[in-house]
Amino acid sequence: MRGPAPSDGKEVDLSHELYNAGHLFEAAAANYQATGDRHLLDVALKEADLLCATFGPEANKVHGVWPGHEVVEMGLAKLYRVTGESKYLRLAKYFIDYRGPCGDDYHQSRIKPVNESRAVGHAVRAGYLYSGMADVAALTGARDYVRAIDRIWNDVAGTKLYVTGGIGAIPDGEKFGPAYFLPNKTAYCETCAAVANDFWNERLFLLHGDAQYVDVLERALYNGLLSGVSLDGKGFFYVNPLEADGAVARSPWFGCACCPGNITRFLPSLPGYLYAQSGKDLYVNLYAANEAEIKIGNRAVKITEETRYPWDGAVKLTVHPDEPARFTIKLRVPGWARNEAAPGGLYRFVEHSDAEPTLKVNDGTQPIKLERGYVSLKRKWKDGDTIYLEIPMPVRRIVANQAVEADRGRVALQRGPIVYCLESTDNSGMDVRSFALPANEEMRAGFEPGLLHGVEVLRGTNFQAIPYYAWANRGKSEMAVWMRSSEAR
Ligand SMILES: [Zn+2]
Repeated sequence: MRGPAPSDGKEVDLSHELYNAGHLFEAAAANYQATGDRHLLDVALKEADLLCATFGPEANKVHGVWPGHEVVEMGLAKLYRVTGESKYLRLAKYFIDYRGPCGDDYHQSRIKPVNESRAVGHAVRAGYLYSGMADVAALTGARDYVRAIDRIWNDVAGTKLYVTGGIGAIPDGEKFGPAYFLPNKTAYCETCAAVANDFWNERLFLLHGDAQYVDVLERALYNGLLSGVSLDGKGFFYVNPLEADGAVARSPWFGCACCPGNITRFLPSLPGYLYAQSGKDLYVNLYAANEAEIKIGNRAVKITEETRYPWDGAVKLTVHPDEPARFTIKLRVPGWARNEAAPGGLYRFVEHSDAEPTLKVNDGTQPIKLERGYVSLKRKWKDGDTIYLEIPMPVRRIVANQAVEADRGRVALQRGPIVYCLESTDNSGMDVRSFALPANEEMRAGFEPGLLHGVEVLRGTNFQAIPYYAWANRGKSEMAVWMRSSEAR
């Protein structure tokens, strides 16, 4: 699909060459950072230098090219971070600034991105564009970029985000629908779009230092992104629907094989999302058992984290600075642990939970005073200091904004960051797609080590729900995330 060509007919306009270049740049930067080897980086820099020599505002260059499938902007920003070469950053900004107007929503070019207020068009392309804008905003301080991506984020969080964190409601065009249009069986929710959504939210967190972006990132990560790969790692979803009639299965590969590659590069990068650092502030964003070594000021700090998260909200962090040092550890208290189902108000919990998180440092109980979703522990840390954070994980029922027609009269189940579904495999003799969850149904959570590589299941009187990400791993089945309920008003 092509919009009106803005340049002088260059073949690269609105095509995928710059998308391929962007992925090469990202791979080269990651490879260099991980290994110190320059081979792939040097190849990428040659191509980036060619792009810089070919495209730009100067009279002797090709003007106004619109990368047809964005990602080159993020890739160029990465090369700038690695090399400090400002021409890469300038070209990234050039590609964004010369996009639109007079194009189409599909390519995010009907109006200039910096003037946009809505998430439009192809969802993966959009997610990459917004991520590239966040990079340019962070690296140049462009306030108009920040305002644009904030407006667009509010549009997505408030009206276009699936409860699984997926984005892109419409298969025809793989694109965003209008506000509140979130059908379940025909949801598109491409795996790449969930990855792009996480790229974008990570960057917005880095810009604003607000946990609401990590809330969205976590929702997508544990649900609509992880569902993109089978438990044995050999099958992939391109499309991640929230309801299925028995005809859906993962594939080993696709003709257009973006999603398998996106999953296989995202999951190894996950450790980079756990912590973030700003000066003497250490943010703990995602909880997972891990060991990390982080430089804070001129001190080397080792952190050991023990937890069964996301199945259990008990988190134990032990801090090992090489010498006692004063810095601040900022612990994210997820929105779902504060009775906020999702930032933006698109979803809410049916009942208020009185189960409050608790916090201790060594033997001392600490008050939980939140600022932008974080509780701050500022002190002189010494070797062996231990933080105990306990985040209750009751089973919660979620309802969508009444404007979402597909979810009206329905509830979804969530425990911790995990969204659940009913799969026919666990519920023989029941039509899971028309199952009605009785009001005030007592539900119990229990860990099943032998099921689906070990999952916490939810059980009611006559049903069993499993984590959404784990569905379709036992042959074809019917599945539903949203259940009918008289409580959903
Ligand atoms: Zn894809």
